[in-house]
Amino acid sequence: MNERPELFVGGRWVSSKGTERAAVRNPATGAYVGSAALASPADVDDAVAAARDSFDSGVWADAAPERRAEVLHKAADLLEKRAPELARSITGELGCPIWFSEAAHVPNPIRHLRYYADMARDFPYDERRTDGANTSVVTQEPVGVVAAVTPWNGPLSTPTLKTAPALAAGCSVVLKPPPETPLTVYALADALAEAGLPEGVLSIVPGGREASAHLVAHPEVDKIAFTGSSAAGKKIMAVAADRIARVTLELGGKSAAIICDDADLDAVIPKLLPMALMVNGQACIAQTRVLVPRHREAEIVDALADALRGQKVGDPADRETRIGPMVSERQRDRVAGYVTTGRSEGARVVTGGERLDLPPELAGGWFVPPTLLAGVDNAMRVAQEEIFGPVLAVIAYEGDEEAVRIANDSRYGLSGSVWSAAEDRALAIARRIRTGMVSLNGRPQAFGTPFGGYKESGVGREMGPEGFRAYLETKSIATG
Ligand code: NAD
Repeated sequence: MNERPELFVGGRWVSSKGTERAAVRNPATGAYVGSAALASPADVDDAVAAARDSFDSGVWADAAPERRAEVLHKAADLLEKRAPELARSITGELGCPIWFSEAAHVPNPIRHLRYYADMARDFPYDERRTDGANTSVVTQEPVGVVAAVTPWNGPLSTPTLKTAPALAAGCSVVLKPPPETPLTVYALADALAEAGLPEGVLSIVPGGREASAHLVAHPEVDKIAFTGSSAAGKKIMAVAADRIARVTLELGGKSAAIICDDADLDAVIPKLLPMALMVNGQACIAQTRVLVPRHREAEIVDALADALRGQKVGDPADRETRIGPMVSERQRDRVAGYVTTGRSEGARVVTGGERLDLPPELAGGWFVPPTLLAGVDNAMRVAQEEIFGPVLAVIAYEGDEEAVRIANDSRYGLSGSVWSAAEDRALAIARRIRTGMVSLNGRPQAFGTPFGGYKESGVGREMGPEGFRAYLETKSIATG
């Protein structure tokens, strides 16, 4: 059992001033995994005060970049030592297949810490600029107190995507993880405290909407770094507007995978499925609208349906499992509800959609079978709204022009992919897709390239130098 009765406020373990606790259940079985105290608004106030004091004291903001790098590298070393335990913990609270926890959910946070440690050390903070008559120094300073608010689908990696660059830049951080996955994230507190992060610089306060809304509205918070739904992102942006707080928003997606008429399905499908079903389909970048040339529709629907039927659904702790449960009962019901919606809109459920035949020990789990909806029109709700589960919608098109038009006919603009035997054709299509990220033929993004979206998928970018600058303010000093 993982019991977390205390919050990490200003570098110390303290009792919550509220009474709420999150009981975490294994999504695959419903078995109790552990619990965490949830923060009340009063705890948030304490965390922000600690962050403010530490920032204003300069204990971290004015530390040499080399020192900040050293602490982050040491924290990465400490997390690395706990990698197997952390992967099990993530799978236990999120229901993500263990192979993916081991391949992504644990190594990525370690990589984030190391990447931004090196950037902190090597970044050119000062630049002299002259117009011939006058000279200024353009300098980059930490933005201040950061509120980092994260969702449940990356229990450790979303927190480090924000915390690593923010700390590397010299900010103080109040991290607010969600009540669904409040356990593994405390490894970050353990590691950074042991690595020598000064007290006050980091707080971790899992909490629900009330605590979270209180945090983002806090006048002492200079910057909000949010990952979550577009609906919540809009509210947060409005709250930030009141005091012109800086915001980075990483929001929802409804990404299109454009399969061109020359694509080799045997090559496409094994790569496309993991990109569509990542974290059991609960990924913002999931490629869930599959755009297919009309004359190949039947062939592609058959091949996709066969491949989906071949995905092993079951206990995420089992290495053979490809699809585990949804994170919660609410999420399971939401996804199942969308399958019903798709049917009523006229989509055809080719595979999935029914209850799964699972062993008795998984009877209490929140499973949804991998589901393929065919005959989908892009105007349908199942094509426009984020389902956040293992449900793919096949949409037919005539010609590349229409494929691009359908891909862009979305309020979201996060990710996408183009699948073609001709690389230059795929690249030309990728350039016309209005999203922050596009993959050609399933290639992963290089580490260090920006992550984020157009349109209602967000504002700003994480990763890369872009994700570091998001925690800096620019100042011009006229020197001569
Ligand atoms: P959510 O928006 O309900 O909650 C996300 C976080 O925000 C939680 O910590 C929650 O407590 C908090 N929150 C919710 N409403 C708030 C408000 N009004 N003010 C302040 N805080 C608030 O999202 P979720 O269901 O937990 O996560 C799924 C969503 O996250 C999906 O839409 C998904 O696409 C998105 N997501 C985006 C990315 C990305 O990088 N673009 C990555 C992962 C998930």
